[in-house]
Amino acid sequence: MRIINGAKTIISLLKELGSMKPVEKADFYKSKCEYYQGIVELSLVVASLTSICFLYSDYMINGTVLTTIIPRLFILVFIAAFFIVTHYSSSFRTMIVMDFVLGHGMCVTASWTAYKLVDNSNSITGIIIVNLIWLVIGLVATPRDNVINGIVYIVEIYITNLFNHYTNYEQILALEIPCIIGITVVNYVMAAFYLDHYKVSQNLEKALVTDPLTQVYNRHVLDQIISDNAIKYSSPDDNIAVAMLDIDDFKKINDENGHYTGDLVLMYMGLKLSKETHKDDYVIRYGGEEFVIILRNCSVTDARVRMEQFRTDIENALDTPIPFTISVGVSSYDGDYLKALQKVDEALYKAKNTGKNKVIVL
Ligand code: GH3
Ligand code: MG
Ligand code: MG
Repeated sequence: MRIINGAKTIISLLKELGSMKPVEKADFYKSKCEYYQGIVELSLVVASLTSICFLYSDYMINGTVLTTIIPRLFILVFIAAFFIVTHYSSSFRTMIVMDFVLGHGMCVTASWTAYKLVDNSNSITGIIIVNLIWLVIGLVATPRDNVINGIVYIVEIYITNLFNHYTNYEQILALEIPCIIGITVVNYVMAAFYLDHYKVSQNLEKALVTDPLTQVYNRHVLDQIISDNAIKYSSPDDNIAVAMLDIDDFKKINDENGHYTGDLVLMYMGLKLSKETHKDDYVIRYGGEEFVIILRNCSVTDARVRMEQFRTDIENALDTPIPFTISVGVSSYDGDYLKALQKVDEALYKAKNTGKNKVIVL
């Protein structure tokens, strides 16, 4: 049964969403906002501009547009405020707040217009239609935002009623409360549905930059770092070091023990390098059995010490699939990764030609 399968999917997604850590959840909602904001923004601006066209129905009620033209055009102030604020702040929380501000801008100008109309008995239609706007903004907002907005909206109806004395105020409230509950539930379900898309795109993004065998970064990442000069100094006295590591006589390891053991050695290297480096360092599989690492906040002297330690650790390790050694070339980054790579390559070449199993700095 489709409906039962749908319900099961939603329940498992909701459970997953509920078990996410706060940091993961924040990233999820940020991603959801970035994904939907364009369409939400377009819908809100179109709806806001459309509200100006309601001057025609104002004319049908009042016999003139002069009394309502100012409140109707006032929506342009909200649109301008929306674009100014979102231009200067690209934070996703600001985006969501401004979406709601523009939504409430439509409510405020509509209530102001209702105040100017000789007959505001149509207000109930407008107030219920606004729920479509909350439904759309729910695509970017969190369920908590939707609940807060629902309460704000009911307060807003209460306050505007003090001036407008809606002829059907009780009906408006009676309809609005279940509408807000329904919208909150639908938005929560839609958020859970986005989780599916979020997970797929996260896995895809990860796969694009990860070497499948060793689970460290792949060559594309290094190409990107070189072409964009992507990792820069974090302060004027910062140092960045680069190292190139190559397994000694790897071809022999393959030939004598089989490719599977060779693969295990590569996996071991990936794991060991990830453990030995710091969180903001980069470990990249450069080629077959060659790795490049970018060590941040690390002078070339410190890099030599760290690499020498790593080399002896490998040489003496008891947990390797098979004993092996490595050669390492080390150099410093001085603003150009291509140059740094040429230097580490040269240093590695020297290490290989002078007996292997050593660290050379250039
Ligand atoms: P040197 O000490 O001079 O570095 O010699 P080497 O044998 O380590 O280097 P060479 O370039 O001659 O051989 C590298 C070998 O790595 C050849 C290739 O078959 C093997 N290789 C490349 N990628 C993989 C892989 O993903 N898995 C396995 N098992 N072997 C690989
Ligand atoms: Mg080698
Ligand atoms: Mg090699």
